[in-house]
Amino acid sequence: MKKKVIIIGAGFGGLTAAKNLSNTDFELTIIDKTNHHLFQPLLYQVATAALSPSDIAVPIRSLLSGYKNIKVILDEVEAIEASEHKVTLKNSESQLEFDYLIVAVGGRHSYFGNEKWEQIAPGLKTLTDALVIREKIIEALELAEKESNEDLIKKYLTFVIVGGGPTGVELAGAIAEIAKETMIKDYKNFRPEDTKVILIEAADRILPSFDKKLSEQAKEDLLHMGVEVKLNTKVENVTEDGVYTNNSFISAKTIIWAAGNQASQLLKSLNTEIDNAGRVIVKPDCSIPNHPEIFVIGDAAHFKEEDGKVLPGVAQVAIQQGKFVAEMIRKEIPYDKRPKFNYIDKGTMATIGKAKAVAEIKGLKLTGLIAWLSWSLVHIFFLIGFRNRFRVMIEWIWYYITKKHGTRLIVGK
Ligand SMILES: Cc1cc2nc3c(=O)[nH]c(=O)nc-3n(C[C@H](O)[C@H](O)[C@H](O)COP(=O)(O)OP(=O)(O)OC[C@H]3O[C@@H](n4cnc5c(N)ncnc54)[C@H](O)[C@@H]3O)c2cc1C
Repeated sequence: MKKKVIIIGAGFGGLTAAKNLSNTDFELTIIDKTNHHLFQPLLYQVATAALSPSDIAVPIRSLLSGYKNIKVILDEVEAIEASEHKVTLKNSESQLEFDYLIVAVGGRHSYFGNEKWEQIAPGLKTLTDALVIREKIIEALELAEKESNEDLIKKYLTFVIVGGGPTGVELAGAIAEIAKETMIKDYKNFRPEDTKVILIEAADRILPSFDKKLSEQAKEDLLHMGVEVKLNTKVENVTEDGVYTNNSFISAKTIIWAAGNQASQLLKSLNTEIDNAGRVIVKPDCSIPNHPEIFVIGDAAHFKEEDGKVLPGVAQVAIQQGKFVAEMIRKEIPYDKRPKFNYIDKGTMATIGKAKAVAEIKGLKLTGLIAWLSWSLVHIFFLIGFRNRFRVMIEWIWYYITKKHGTRLIVGK
């Protein structure tokens, strides 16, 4: 009988593992609670109406339809029974059995115990999140257009982004472009200088995972674009009125959360050690203790390198781990003969705005137009599907020339 492999999650890690186990003798089932593979690094462009959802998402079924040994299931895995080798689906009576399991379920944002803030300050992880944020931004501009009360206009035109990591920086830059340069032209009741974009960061610099000089450059670029950067500032409360920090109150209608990550709740059912962010602490071969047949990869895994550093939650880690565990399974390497997973850091990048980005590639530090071109090329290259690559390239060229954002529809939540 053919051995069964189940992969939970068709993000970067799960999809890579599936492709590397295609056309083998294993019977493979990949389960995802959404029907699409999502290119998260460009989500902020959907949130800021630069791209459409279909530019960055592809149906998983169509991506894998060519592989005879791969079955795709649309459902949410509710529990994993490690010793029974079974997974339970939310919308099915029967359980699925496996010989090998790859858990690649990513995570959500963390509100550090203040989950009620999510209603007011959404985070950005899924297409739905991006559409909610997009509508919030456009609605705020619409409200300001018809308002005469000065205080309310100020509130509607203030956009607060909490968290100065790559997502926060990218969102702040993109919202500043909309609110101070591009979309603003279509409104008559206010001027670019009336809008405020505020980026809040608890640490003493933005992009803390980058080299200090690049953080400084990113901050300067943002200031140049009209973004207010508030460092050493901690959010203490978020309400419908705005944001309360350790040193001020900011009246704002639009608040976006980009401050922390929490791995999927599903991981708890593995009954193995997890870290503060809910990630499973994995062995050097990405398997979990006492279960060499179960692997956890990508954002769901806490993988410690030999120097003690924990691998970051980035696409390359998930992709490389997906490839690695697929090889362990394909070759059926017994636990005691498995090599350690070895991450090859290909560099990190963050874009700030048109022709502005920072990048750190193998010790080389890039800023400005060169960094932005490298960022654009890498993102086009890694987008899945030729049609998407072509469409995104055309959208970017169109936007670069016309400064017009395309997808500005409000369709209701
Ligand atoms: C806004 C944003 C910008 C980013 N920018 C960059 C960047 O520029 N560069 C970079 O390298 N990284 C970036 N990242 C991080 C990168 O996207 C992640 O590290 C990567 O997606 C992790 O891959 P993964 O396979 O572990 O999880 P994911 O890609 O998150 O995939 C997880 C999958 O599991 C599915 N799933 C979850 N729970 C269940 C369940 N219970 N049952 C079934 N299915 C489930 C989800 O639907 C999803 O499809 C960004 C992330 C975000 C959110």
